[in-house]
Amino acid sequence: MSTKSYTIRTAGQANIPVLGLGTWQSTGNDCVEVVSKALQMGYEHIDTAQAYGNEKQVGEGIKQSGVARDKFFLTTKIFPDDMKFEPEKLKAAAEQSLKDLDTDYVDLLLLHWPDDRVPLSETIPALCELQKQGLTRHIGVSNFNIANIVEAKKHADVPIVVNQVEFHPFIKQDSLQTFLNNHHILLEAYSPLARGDVFDNEVIQKIADNHNATPAQVSLAWILSDKDRVAIPKTSNPEHLQGNLDATKIELSADELEQIGKLARSDGRKIEHPDYSPQWDD
Ligand code: NAP
Repeated sequence: MSTKSYTIRTAGQANIPVLGLGTWQSTGNDCVEVVSKALQMGYEHIDTAQAYGNEKQVGEGIKQSGVARDKFFLTTKIFPDDMKFEPEKLKAAAEQSLKDLDTDYVDLLLLHWPDDRVPLSETIPALCELQKQGLTRHIGVSNFNIANIVEAKKHADVPIVVNQVEFHPFIKQDSLQTFLNNHHILLEAYSPLARGDVFDNEVIQKIADNHNATPAQVSLAWILSDKDRVAIPKTSNPEHLQGNLDATKIELSADELEQIGKLARSDGRKIEHPDYSPQWDD
């Protein structure tokens, strides 16, 4: 039985299915198979990136699924190595992604991390141009702090619809979330299972038991309880696909949401890249 995820609308009119399949560290034939199976079972959203080195496998999985390209939302990201955020290089990088994914367009193209070496006054107009030229339907950013987004918005003449950042019960993102809400930008939660840390948390496990659910589902349901968020859990295990998708059907009580909301810690961040991480807001 196929389970449809529901959609939310952003200020940019992008209809983004709330639960996507993350593919970081999905490699080789496992990646092909999990992407193909996900699309066949009703996933409508796949997240990849040039830096994951798997765009060809994601493209092959899409092909093997037999699901038409306009039936799902596809995101990729351009990583700022080799000065790729310079306008000419940005376009070449986007074209390379489309070639590797074997598609004419992506639905969302993200700048993967901020890059101090190229001013956003140059990169953002070039990114907007890629949308106007049809290489991507929408544009967004990832791992941007509030100051980065304020600067990006100054140079954008199409909406920035998403900031993809780490988000799960253990991380504080309050200031960023408030800022994004005020500017009609979705918070797209990466590492929504805290890369596995949610599985043995006692509070989450107890709530999961109440719902006859798994801790993974409870973490996802908590994230998605806020209509300004989407989540992209990664799995390479086809047996985990359905359960993660079914998290969209779980409704947590106000008390359960509050209990999970209290788990955030100042040292709860899982992903740090000291060489290029911005100054985080929370
Ligand atoms: P995650 O989704 O929080 O956790 C993935 C881990 O959870 C994997 O070990 C996976 O193992 C396991 N898992 C998934 N579903 C499960 C289930 N139902 N039961 C048990 N284990 C389960 O971590 P993530 O990969 O860091 O984040 C998700 C996605 O976000 C990435 O794949 C990527 O697309 C994106 N991301 C973006 C950035 C960025 O800089 N923009 C950074 C990090 C991640 P199995 O594969 O064995 O299921």
